[in-house]
Amino acid sequence: MATETKEFKAESKRLLEMMINSIYTHKEIFLRELISNASDAMDKLYFKSMSENTGITRSDMGIKLEANKDDRKLIITDNGIGMTKDELENNLGTIAKSGSLAFKNENEKTEDVNIIGQFGVGFYSAFMVAKKVTVISKAYGSDEAYMWESEGVDGYTISEAQKDSHGTQIILDIKDNAEEENYDEFLEPYKIRQLIRKYSDYIRYPIKMDVEHEKLKEGSKDEYEKEIVTETLNSMTPIWKKSKSELKDEDYNQFYKDKFYDYDEPLAHIHTRTEGTATYSALLYIPAKAPYDYYSKNFEKGLQLYSSGVMIMEKCGDLLPDYFSFVRGLVDSEDLSLNISREMLQHDRQLKLIAKSLEKSIRNELKKLQKNEREKYEKFFDSFGTQLKYGIYESFGANKENLQDLLLFKSSFGGYVTLEEYVSRMKDDQKYIYFASGSSIARIEALPQTEMVRDKGYEILYFTDHVDEFTVQMMHDYNGKEFKSVSADDLGLETEEEKEEIKKAEEDNKELFDFMTEKLSGKVKAVKLSQRLKTHPVCISSEGMLSVEMEKVLSAMPDEQSQNAKAEKILEINASHPIFEKLKALYSTDKDKVAEYADILYSQALLIEGMPIENPVEFTNKLCEIMAK
Ligand code: ADP
Repeated sequence: MATETKEFKAESKRLLEMMINSIYTHKEIFLRELISNASDAMDKLYFKSMSENTGITRSDMGIKLEANKDDRKLIITDNGIGMTKDELENNLGTIAKSGSLAFKNENEKTEDVNIIGQFGVGFYSAFMVAKKVTVISKAYGSDEAYMWESEGVDGYTISEAQKDSHGTQIILDIKDNAEEENYDEFLEPYKIRQLIRKYSDYIRYPIKMDVEHEKLKEGSKDEYEKEIVTETLNSMTPIWKKSKSELKDEDYNQFYKDKFYDYDEPLAHIHTRTEGTATYSALLYIPAKAPYDYYSKNFEKGLQLYSSGVMIMEKCGDLLPDYFSFVRGLVDSEDLSLNISREMLQHDRQLKLIAKSLEKSIRNELKKLQKNEREKYEKFFDSFGTQLKYGIYESFGANKENLQDLLLFKSSFGGYVTLEEYVSRMKDDQKYIYFASGSSIARIEALPQTEMVRDKGYEILYFTDHVDEFTVQMMHDYNGKEFKSVSADDLGLETEEEKEEIKKAEEDNKELFDFMTEKLSGKVKAVKLSQRLKTHPVCISSEGMLSVEMEKVLSAMPDEQSQNAKAEKILEINASHPIFEKLKALYSTDKDKVAEYADILYSQALLIEGMPIENPVEFTNKLCEIMAK
């Protein structure tokens, strides 16, 4: 037969050009595509042999790689089903004509035959790295072999060829290095091994390559000689396809460390296989520590996504909600619809179903950890608790039901407490879930505002995380129990009698309070008698949505709007403290002093809160003046 020269069909030509230049962002995936095609071809032969009883088994098949730096050739050989002349023409001459898809449609029941390629463009990715592609193929059962050759968009030739056994050999003439493009590496055994490990580790046929090693010459202590060893580059069976009973914790942990480059053992793993509306296997891990960039913009969430053992995406973000972004692992599904490049996954229904079911598994696993291995869970929470709290805050409370029982808070009763535990030990007459905010536990414990609540024997949640107050504001309540800051205006602690008493004292001294309020105008909304102080002279509380603690957090934000957000502050004075008597007395004799004292008391209350005071020099001078008297 003479060599037949043909042009690619017009649309194929355009697509091929596009392909070479743009669709695939990572050139290296050409190898994945060609290996997947080879694996498909062997699956097809296996399927054929089952239905026709040819005696060929999976173990008879495999892929061979050869890299030759001198003549810049990379050769991929399989002993799969091969292609006839027509098939070469139809499958490789026409883009988007996928032989695999046709095969799959014809053999709907081929459950055990996983056909990876469904869209006929993968093969052309070879042109991203090769200046010329040669395909020599012999169809199973045929005596003739053919050679398909192409140097790109100009067309291809088909001619007769010699080939001993069935299968396909693909010869790539690797491009020369160009500016900023390193093609040499695709001829390096280490790089090839790396790519196979990364993308094709779980292809179920062995991928073999002859690798050169140095070894000590026999009988010599320092003389080396070259030795060629045929190595299998892929591990073939994915760990997630094995049954759980075959695997020990060590196996899971080792896999995690190798795969995700973490030195620390994971805290837990989830291994599931789900069938039904969404069919997939998943292997997920809860890491012990947050990566250094976890709480930064650079961190990218996502799970590895495999389609029948072939990695199609390194980080699929759509599989995880933001609040579980710390989870690492992979998902393998046969029935994902993939777009032509396999790089960009359509946001399809299937993926959404998988994501939903994963979310639930993760939640259940965390609940289980919380219940059965509290110490581990607390470690987890130290690393990732903030993320869960953000999950509630950022969703404006929409994720509350999913996340509220995963939360932990430090408590005045010691250690961490869940909200469920808190509510279960609330006192009979206790109306609210109380919390106090501050930069550290020591600071919170010293807060005057906590005195009365503590005195009642009520438990107080300690909020040391910036997001805490914002989170409970979004939650509003936990199973009907409202959250209440110890600095809130109405604590719900005092009896009607006590309330009356304070009201009366305030009325009796209305002028004094009005005067002080006026002197502190712009700083506080009001000066009042306190219902929460027992021994301390003053404190600040707040009215409205924004607390003093929230003002602190917002003032550190980059935007002006946040920086200008101010809590409506109330300066509270302890009616039973001598300073109150002093103020009353001074009011009728020396109003200037009252004004001065109001200012000092306000500054002191700010300091207790850990807030900056406006004029520290003036404050110090005034205090020293008083001391010197
Ligand atoms: P896809 O694999 O997505 O179907 P490709 O462009 O990669 O598309 O391949 C086109 C077709 O060429 C395949 O569907 C298959 O029929 C055929 N083919 C490619 N490589 C081989 C191979 N190694 N052995 C047999 N047939 C192959």
